[in-house]
Parts: sequence; structure tokens; C-alpha cells
Amino acid sequence: MILLDSIGSAEHATMVAERIMARLAEPFEMAGHRVFVTASVGIALSATGYADVEDILRDADIAMYHAKKAGRARWVIFDRVMQLAALRRLQMEADLRDALAQSQLVLHYQPIVSLHDDRISGFEALLRWNHPARGMVPPNEFIPVAEEIGLIGQIGAWVLAQACRQLCEWQQRFDIRLEMSVNVSAVQFNGDELAGTVRRVLRDTGVVPSTLKLELTESAVMADAEHALVVLAQLKALGVRVSLDDFGTGYSSLSYLRRLPIDTLKIDRSFVSQLDRLDDKRQIVDVVLTLAHALGLDVVAEGVETDAEQRLLRDMGSDFVQGYFYYKPLTPEATTLALAQQGNMLTTSLSETFG
Ligand code: C2E
Ligand code: MG
Ligand code: MG
Repeated sequence: MILLDSIGSAEHATMVAERIMARLAEPFEMAGHRVFVTASVGIALSATGYADVEDILRDADIAMYHAKKAGRARWVIFDRVMQLAALRRLQMEADLRDALAQSQLVLHYQPIVSLHDDRISGFEALLRWNHPARGMVPPNEFIPVAEEIGLIGQIGAWVLAQACRQLCEWQQRFDIRLEMSVNVSAVQFNGDELAGTVRRVLRDTGVVPSTLKLELTESAVMADAEHALVVLAQLKALGVRVSLDDFGTGYSSLSYLRRLPIDTLKIDRSFVSQLDRLDDKRQIVDVVLTLAHALGLDVVAEGVETDAEQRLLRDMGSDFVQGYFYYKPLTPEATTLALAQQGNMLTTSLSETFG
């Protein structure tokens, strides 16, 4: 921490920051090795008007984290926008801690359609937060926060149990085999409670294990494939299935892909979108389909939005499709309706009822 006394302007502070960074950037010797370090500097200016020492330190700290996030080895001056973002974030953390207890979390269900018989084969459970002031908050906005503050285990367990209860209800009501796909966060996957949670939920809900599919992102699995082998073996021992989500966006090792006990590849939306117009996308999807089928895996193409995309995927031999062309994520009530209307599924468009 450095206190700069009586500086004339912000440039004086950034000049000092540059000098410090340049000095620290010089390599040095440590135990016979040449070592390099870089520094990220956060600057808070007292001209903003501070009453407490703690406040200025906190803001300098926030600015430093912005510097790290922006790629490190740079300085960042704290500003109002950061302050607002920090406050919003604190508020979200506080609200999120209450969300479960106050039943503000809800699941929507996006049907997954089999191209073999054009019927709904199952659903992906997608989490939303029905925030009292902000309305429906999408998962990408709050799941990273839940992961950071250690709430993801609890939230994930709730999602799993809720999705399984819902699946049992639909299976009984419609007397057909349906599958439920549930997203699992990388943090849950790397923690040591996942298998235990799944075992408990299977027992408590009585769901048939083979109708539950856990979606793990390619990046979460491949980040530590040896660890993944262990966890996946535990999950498979429980009889559940596993999908690799967002396939194609990470870096898969082909040798691990062959060894990992997975059942399904979900081709990421970025490859499916405009598939009919872009040759390179079509070739990638073709290769993924060939690879998956050679490995005995089935394929779900995500984010199918147009008829042209759908036709092409069908021609290329995709097993399942999921996307706005068929259904958006639906409320439980709308999902029940969609199941009831199975027959004219392809001409029915039901939209998600967002807050
Ligand atoms: P994901 O698992 O890849 O889910 C697919 C996302 O694509 C969903 O966004 C879905 O609404 C959206 N989508 C589906 N079809 C289309 C389409 O045709 N066009 C477009 N533009 N988008 C489509 P959503 O619901 O916002 O979820 C985003 C991500 O949040 C999910 O990506 C998943 O990674 C995560 N997520 C959702 N629910 C959960 C959960 O319960 N637990 C965890 N850990 N993550 C979750
Ligand atoms: Mg998913
Ligand atoms: Mg995905």
C-alpha cells in the first residue's frame, strides 16, 4: 500500500504506478532461477471525497481487482461505475443468500426433441431467479456469484431434487419415458459432495437413475481429466448418465474423450447457428457427429433456431435437437401443456413466460 501525499492530479498517481510496475518487471534471481513478476495497481483518489480510511482502501482494492481482471500488469483508477458495480454485487450476494429460503429460485424446462420420432425425449432444467425487485434473473448473472460465495452446492442440490421430483410427476402423468438433464457447475464437479448429493436425490425422489442426465461443460471436465475420470466413475456407479455440454468451445483431449464414461455430446449453439450458411460450421458439426457416433455417444444439437438448421442437422444424422425452433425454456405449466400436445408439437410455438 502506498499513500501519495499532496499529488496534483490523477496523472501523478499513474506515473508513480508506471514506475513501480517498471521496477517490479525487472527479472531477478531466485534459487538459481530467473524470475519475473508483474504488478496490478489499483488507485483510489481522495478527491472523490472519503470520510473513512477503510473506504479508500476498499476502493483501491476494487480497482486492483479490475486491473487483474483486465489482464494484469496494469493500473486502474477507481470510478463511480466500479462503485455501483461493487454495490450491486454486494446486494446480489445478500439477496442470493435469501433466495433459496424464500423460494425465489425456479426451474424452467426446455424440451429436447428426438429426430428419430420427432417427439419430446426429455428436458433440460434451466434455473432462473425470480428476484422480488429485478424480475427473472438469468443464470449467467447469478450462478458465478453463487459459485464464488459458496452457495452453489446448496443451490445445485435444490435444482437436482426439484428437477427429479418434476420428472417423476410427468413420467407418472403421461406414462412415457422421459429424461431430465440437469446442469452441474464446475465448482460442484470439483467439490467432493456431488456423488453424495446425487445418491441422496435419487433415493429421496425415487427417480429411475438412467433417466437423469448430468450436464458437465467440456471445459470443467477437461480442466482436470484425471479427476474427471474418478468423479464420473462414481456417478456412473449410481446409474445416471452424463452429457458434455458446450462441446466444441473448450479443448478436448481425444484420448480422454475415448476413456471418459460419457453418454452424450451437446454441440454448442455457436456451431449450430447459421449452420446452413457457413460451410466451415457444417464441416465442424459433421466431424463432431462422426466422432461422437464412432465413440458410441449420441448427440444433442443446441440452439436450433431455424427450419434450415433443423433440416441440415437431420440430414447429417444428429440424434436430438434443442432450441427456439422447437421450444423455448418453458414454465412447468407450459411444459405439461407441451407434453399433452405432443402430437402437433412441431407446429406449436410456446414462449417462455419471463417475469
Ligand atoms: P447451457 O446449459 O448451455 O443451456 C443452454 C442455454 O441456451 C440456455 O440459456 C437456453 O435458454 C439457451 N437456448 C436454448 N435454445 C436456444 C436457442 O435456440 N437460441 C438461443 N439464443 N439460446 C438458446 P440459459 O437458460 O440462460 O442458461 C445459460 C447457462 O446457465 C446454461 O447454459 C448453463 O450453463 C447455466 N445454467 C442454467 N441452469 C443451471 C443450473 O441449474 N445449474 C448450473 N450450474 N448452471 C445452470
Ligand atoms: Mg446445459
Ligand atoms: Mg450448452
